[in-house]
Amino acid sequence: MASLPLPLIRSLLLAQFPNVRAAQSTAQGETPDAPFGFNLGYNLGDDDSRVTANIVRYAAALDLEAEDLAFMHQVHGDTIRVVSEPGAYEDTDAMITTQPGVGLTVRTADCVPVLLYAPGAGAVAAVHAGWRGTAEHITRKTAARLLAEFGAEPEAVFAFIGAAAGACCYEVGNEVAALFPERWLQRSEGKNPRLDLPGINRQQLLDLGIPEGNIETAGQCSIHESHLLFSFRRDGDRSGRMLATIVLREDV
Ligand SMILES: [Zn+2]
Repeated sequence: MASLPLPLIRSLLLAQFPNVRAAQSTAQGETPDAPFGFNLGYNLGDDDSRVTANIVRYAAALDLEAEDLAFMHQVHGDTIRVVSEPGAYEDTDAMITTQPGVGLTVRTADCVPVLLYAPGAGAVAAVHAGWRGTAEHITRKTAARLLAEFGAEPEAVFAFIGAAAGACCYEVGNEVAALFPERWLQRSEGKNPRLDLPGINRQQLLDLGIPEGNIETAGQCSIHESHLLFSFRRDGDRSGRMLATIVLREDV
């Protein structure tokens, strides 16, 4: 059945490091009759056994078992946990680990997944940044901990900002727009402003001194690239979920 390679979004930037693996799943990889596509989220109305099989297949594409993944019960906050084991972490929107083989995983359908690697510090991090987390600077706070607690130098932090809702489509109300500097908003007559969430998260990393060339942005927009990506904004209750994972390899 699953004989074709699983379509994944890979970071070319992080792929240059042999001791780290990073990827983001897409909506593709299931049979055409699967109502939620290649869904990796439970409790959405999809069949649990199908979701489990998809997670196993996704993990395998990263050379992991499903049991190697560390998940967060994401709450759009700014709690960052340093973890050393796989499993599920309550009330968490970012994780850091120095433990090889622990696949730090973010679940999204429009929110921004940010994967960080600090080679000198031997640490990786995964961040879930929707507009609330972005307003609370969760990406900056996570990278700042890599610098302050793990001894990473800004010039030696590398980041992959995964596919998410883009400024082309991500409309927000005026109350949300007011939380962000005007430069991150695109306005057109008679419409709600559109917010550049990936751009703001990138800026949060630049503000710490992480060089431009160390930051890769996937660029695909979840809302309008319906063949490739899930979008809660577009599909609501019928939207599947994607995962993005970063892991330090054990064998290198
Ligand atoms: Zn778009």
